[in-house]
Amino acid sequence: MLHFSYGVMGSSKSAMLLMQHYNHVQLGHYVVLVKPAIDTRIDASTVYSRVGLSAQADIVLYPDQSLREQLMWVSVRNGRNDLPDVFIDEAQFLTEAQVEEIADLALDQEFYCYGLKTDFMGNFFPGSAALMRLAEDISEVPGGLCWCGRKATMNTRIDGEGNVIRTGSQILIDNHQEIKYIGLCYKHWKLGQSHA
Ligand SMILES: [Zn+2]
Repeated sequence: MLHFSYGVMGSSKSAMLLMQHYNHVQLGHYVVLVKPAIDTRIDASTVYSRVGLSAQADIVLYPDQSLREQLMWVSVRNGRNDLPDVFIDEAQFLTEAQVEEIADLALDQEFYCYGLKTDFMGNFFPGSAALMRLAEDISEVPGGLCWCGRKATMNTRIDGEGNVIRTGSQILIDNHQEIKYIGLCYKHWKLGQSHA
């Protein structure tokens, strides 16, 4: 089955993924951890959460790659011929074609995708749009709060001074510039207020 758990910046998506991944490993399941190549936090192959948990991805998936092929290589390397449970972090960065392939693979095995639903302009990422269309089990990761105390539902790009930025490319990772992402409630996202 294809599962999609979405949440805003500041919710515990990656922590939830890593805990669920850990539980499956403890139960003796064959588990493969996947991360799209676009997220450059820490280093390319580490799945990292802000509460301090981290794990090495078995596959760093590039946009032009087939996950079916990459999973075959991992199974050859591990000497396995059974099907793994697959965990995918930052699943919003999957391409539409990759999600369509995963939906077919998920007829025979479990895929747990975690990611953002929308970008800082409130538009779907290609990966999350495809997951919202095709996932059979969709749930929201709770925990994201706006500074006003209301539930955060919108992702917001801010600069070093906390000013809301409304322009620029969909993907801009926080490694060089003073760019950060926070979750806001709809009202404060709409008003562009990132603090009291
Ligand atoms: Zn608010």
